[in-house]
Amino acid sequence: MMSFVPEFRDILRDQEPLAGYTSYGLGGPAQWLACPRTIDQVARLVGYCRGEGIPLYVLGLGANVLVSDEGVAGLVVRLNAPGFRHVDWPRPGSANGSGRRRQATNGDKVTIVAGGGADMHRLVLEAVRRGLEGVEGLAGIPGTLGGIIRMNAGGQWGQIADVVREVTVVDERGAMRHLPASEVGFSYRNTRLGDAVVCQAKLELRPGDPVALRERFMAIWEQKKRCQPLSEPSAGCVYKNPPGHRAGELIDRAGLKGKAIGGARISQLHANFIVTQEGATAEDVFSLIGETRRVVADRFGVELELEIKVWGRQRARSLEPAC
Ligand SMILES: Cc1cc2nc3c(=O)[nH]c(=O)nc-3n(C[C@H](O)[C@H](O)[C@H](O)COP(=O)(O)OP(=O)(O)OC[C@H]3O[C@@H](n4cnc5c(N)ncnc54)[C@H](O)[C@@H]3O)c2cc1C
Repeated sequence: MMSFVPEFRDILRDQEPLAGYTSYGLGGPAQWLACPRTIDQVARLVGYCRGEGIPLYVLGLGANVLVSDEGVAGLVVRLNAPGFRHVDWPRPGSANGSGRRRQATNGDKVTIVAGGGADMHRLVLEAVRRGLEGVEGLAGIPGTLGGIIRMNAGGQWGQIADVVREVTVVDERGAMRHLPASEVGFSYRNTRLGDAVVCQAKLELRPGDPVALRERFMAIWEQKKRCQPLSEPSAGCVYKNPPGHRAGELIDRAGLKGKAIGGARISQLHANFIVTQEGATAEDVFSLIGETRRVVADRFGVELELEIKVWGRQRARSLEPAC
């Protein structure tokens, strides 16, 4: 078995269970888990893994990842050191800040700089509190800024691409690069970032009316609470919406709402969510995905494409529609 050079020993754990780091709470261990403290350390880890042929995965809040029961062969990197969770807010009233007087008199842009491991929920709340407009439409979307950018997370009220100005990544060769938003390749729940690690980003917000912003945030949040099974473990929408369709609607029309395999069940509240109960395994979720894709393909001739990311060896075995 390969082993890591001594310089990484204090940021590495062997056979670290990943379930506790994901919103599903499922799956086996990572062969190695690393929590680097600096961008330079990320770059050295990526370069080392590339040189040794070790597969590398980046984990944010695990809100869109399903880890197989066997776990992940390779290195999982988590950007949860303080330097990656930090958000630099401009001082209120500064030239680039959100002082009330400036808000009232001009529409200047406000740039904030945040680490790839910054908690998006907190970032959104703080922006709303400061009366800064642009990310409130992401209310109720769990994740780190890096994961949110990698997935171009969003929905009917906006997506992260709307506010990203620049992204600092460590690319797959281990080189640090500053990419303007135009080079990120944002598309529907995707980017062209590939295996690059998002370490930092600049977001461009606008001064707005704090009361109106708070009301909008609350309205979105309330709507999500009504339509999504937020009190049960899930990874959000399992499938992307196929062109011209809504995945949840197809699953509902196929009569699959409430269908369960083992401890995994298609939510009654939102058919694009698979929720789990205690005792569920990743294999239960994989089987339910395979069955759903088969039924929807038979009934409507539509192939459901996964939005969630599946990690681990079981993927190939049980995700394919069983014919
Ligand atoms: C209840 C619930 C509701 C949700 N609602 C929505 C919604 O409305 N809209 C929506 O778009 N999504 C939604 N999601 C899915 C999820 O919130 C998003 O996909 C989010 O982007 C995941 O961020 P994360 O940090 O948890 O990334 P993870 O789930 O950890 O990872 C997701 C992908 O991003 C990559 N990644 C993570 N961090 C980095 C990084 N720093 N650099 C490079 N790549 C990285 C991972 O390798 C993986 O490929 C929901 C999820 C839940 C559980």
